[in-house]
Amino acid sequence: VGYEEVAKLALERCFFFPAAEIYGDALAGFWEYGPLGVSLKNRVVELWRREMVRRDGMLEVDGSVILPERVFAASGHLRGFADPVVECLRCGSVHRADKLIEQIIGALVPEKLSEKELDGLLEKNQARCPKCGGQLSKTRRFNMMFKLGVGAREAAPAYLRPETCQSIFLDFPRVFRTMRCKLPAALAQVGRSFRNEISPRQGLIRLREMIQAEIEIFFNPAKAGDYHKFRLVEDCELSIQPLDSSERKPFSCKQAVKEGLIANELIAYYMALLQQFYDKTGIPGSEMRYREMGAEERAFYAEQGWDLEVRTSLGWLELVACNYRTDYDLRGHARESGRDLAIMDEGKVLPHVFELSMGIDRTVYSIMEHSLTREKERLVLKVPPYLAPIQVAVFPLVNRKGLPDEAKRIHNMLRTSFDVFYDDSGSIGRRYRRQDEVGTPCCVTVDYQTMEDKTVTVRDRDTMLQDRTGVDAILGHIREKVSFPSG
Ligand SMILES: [Zn+2]
Repeated sequence: VGYEEVAKLALERCFFFPAAEIYGDALAGFWEYGPLGVSLKNRVVELWRREMVRRDGMLEVDGSVILPERVFAASGHLRGFADPVVECLRCGSVHRADKLIEQIIGALVPEKLSEKELDGLLEKNQARCPKCGGQLSKTRRFNMMFKLGVGAREAAPAYLRPETCQSIFLDFPRVFRTMRCKLPAALAQVGRSFRNEISPRQGLIRLREMIQAEIEIFFNPAKAGDYHKFRLVEDCELSIQPLDSSERKPFSCKQAVKEGLIANELIAYYMALLQQFYDKTGIPGSEMRYREMGAEERAFYAEQGWDLEVRTSLGWLELVACNYRTDYDLRGHARESGRDLAIMDEGKVLPHVFELSMGIDRTVYSIMEHSLTREKERLVLKVPPYLAPIQVAVFPLVNRKGLPDEAKRIHNMLRTSFDVFYDDSGSIGRRYRRQDEVGTPCCVTVDYQTMEDKTVTVRDRDTMLQDRTGVDAILGHIREKVSFPSG
């Protein structure tokens, strides 16, 4: 099952759809989550909280999406967060220079090439406007941040944040002090980021407004080589594709650090934690890899980087950027703000940062693509039960003889504990199918026997088998089925 089928299901069952879709000229790159999408997304975020934030004792903040210009002067985004673009001299459409060349030569073009180098490649490959065939302008840099003016008079320059993590760097000194932290300390945040992408496309894959779940681990670089939590994951296997290789290979964390593939134990520990989170989303580990980023592919602030990627029908897709940002951000904010951001850790130290920057929208999409399964007669979203947007559906077998009243009574009993859907229309087989395609793990049916002995059937999504259970046992049965994995 590929992109088209996921997109169709998403529209028809209200997982996600374009923003302002009733307007024909709505902006590209902005998407809405409908009820089922919200539920799935919230459960993915909750799993992330369980498996990353709480499991590791991280602290979560929730920062402002609008920040003053000086923050982005310090972070380097004012200068560095710019895509190379060319304009069509005939139709005026704007295109990414590097992507145009990639389409022609069918290979990756490094983001860090200069405007001159890109112009050279455009000329060499005789690039023309893909829309009208017109001649193209010279390459220029286009900053992808959305600029705002704050206040009615003499509007202060500000920007929508292009990544959530700047708040974490700004908040770090206060959180560290008031929450009585010690190094290493990890701060986390889920929130929206905004990037004025030149060519947004493919639904949730490349957005202008996206949801990120970011984790910044602050540590003393002198101590990262010997990290006490490392033994918890040293045998954990990661699929790694080093820079000098075009293939991925399995490495235990221990092996990867020993061979110098991963810089230190602390970084390997967090890479393992992240893989273990994805293992619980239902995406098979065999479809994921850590790909090492070369100097030309890395973000401008990163000294070393790994992308955690997933194989999809659209090719390999980046889900999490893992960047070793060194002390780049704290150093920049210390300089720009004039504040000393060093802390005490057996002497004064400006912490280094390792970051796990997760795209929630892409993760939601990838979970859907990897769990959507076509079986003989049905389409089934085989997400782990704890991620299912609807946890239980309740049906009366027929709409008479008191069955609907009993079914509604059960629906009411369940709805304060679970996401429940009540359905009394169409054949029972059709109702099961409708729940299968959105991944509902249990369907409770009230039938004639219910009226005699207070039992219902509970039908399992994956086996399609039905069990008879007492009405008073349903709550416990479902709770067991949909609760998050422990440990
Ligand atoms: Zn054109």
